[in-house]
Amino acid sequence: MATVQLDGITRRFSKSAAIEDISFKIPDGEFWVLVGPSGCGKSTILRTIAGLETATSGNLYIGDRLVNQVPARQRDVSMVFQNYALYPHMSVAENIAFGLKMRQVEASTIQARVETVARILEISHLLDRKPRQLSGGQQQRVALGRAIARQPQVFLLDEPLSNLDAQLRDGTRTELKQLHQQVGITTIYVTHDQVEAMTLADQIVVLDRGRIQQIGTPQQIYDRPVNRMVATFLGSPPMNLIPVTFTGAEFRIGNHAIPASLNVVPGQYDLGIRPEHIVIDAENPYCFGTVSVIEPLGREILLRVMLEGRALNLQASPELDVKVGDRLPLRFDLDRIFLFELASGSRIL
Ligand code: ATP
Repeated sequence: MATVQLDGITRRFSKSAAIEDISFKIPDGEFWVLVGPSGCGKSTILRTIAGLETATSGNLYIGDRLVNQVPARQRDVSMVFQNYALYPHMSVAENIAFGLKMRQVEASTIQARVETVARILEISHLLDRKPRQLSGGQQQRVALGRAIARQPQVFLLDEPLSNLDAQLRDGTRTELKQLHQQVGITTIYVTHDQVEAMTLADQIVVLDRGRIQQIGTPQQIYDRPVNRMVATFLGSPPMNLIPVTFTGAEFRIGNHAIPASLNVVPGQYDLGIRPEHIVIDAENPYCFGTVSVIEPLGREILLRVMLEGRALNLQASPELDVKVGDRLPLRFDLDRIFLFELASGSRIL
């Protein structure tokens, strides 16, 4: 196991920077998740750590070792890609064992480890098959198994569950978390999936256009996002953003006024509020919204409600008796609102 430290890592392709001035240090054994919109540089960071990409500038350390010049295969990292590559002529068992054989690990140890890994990933019945005889999801699990079996110092995963169906993805995600709790290998994980990011991460790194926006625990990122980008990126359905004018005593949303005594300079802002913090309140409504979409999810209902021509996402109890076209009395939980500067997007409340 090892720490992983990036110190001012930049990677340019021709003139533009895919990643710029990336710095963080992952403590030994932690599970970090990189998230951000497509093209923000997640894979480039992972590939640079793996040694598949060379940083234009900056330093990379694995443990105490500066590895800028160390070739990929000598870094003792295991990487699982979105587009996993299995050896087509080898069986599943041979694929999983390959890295261990290369390291001349004893045969009995290899066999035990292959069996353990296969059991964890539920592929024991597939060990004799060739990759072409497997579904995409099964191949993905073999690729995971191969990386896990090597027990590297650092584990790099680039959307490893993206080809699995929903049920298998949930199951494998839980297995991965359990596995990490058992073996504790320092892990860096790239995903688009909110649930994976929130459930797996010790720390989440949010990236946008090649730069770090925020590093924090899932709860910190959710409760105290530093800016509009982070606030709207994590959360499903996403945080509502509403352009408002704050007069000093109330927020104006079109013709609606919401009384609020806040220590904020009067002016125009984007008000952010999560779907779970807009309350349906017939006693004390601030405004009325018209229901345009109803999505029952069993445990809750997601509603889309139109207010001043703007769609708001709301979360409501499944007991709520509602139909499209209903006018709902709404109140905002003012303890849970965020305010963002219009130009910079920085959070000021
Ligand atoms: P996604 O979520 O879509 O996989 P990502 O966050 O992993 O995206 P990267 O693949 O790291 O993003 O790419 C970051 C930026 O660098 C993108 O703008 C991409 O077009 C650019 N880029 C990546 N590899 C190269 C390359 N070999 N040559 C030129 N540009 C590249």
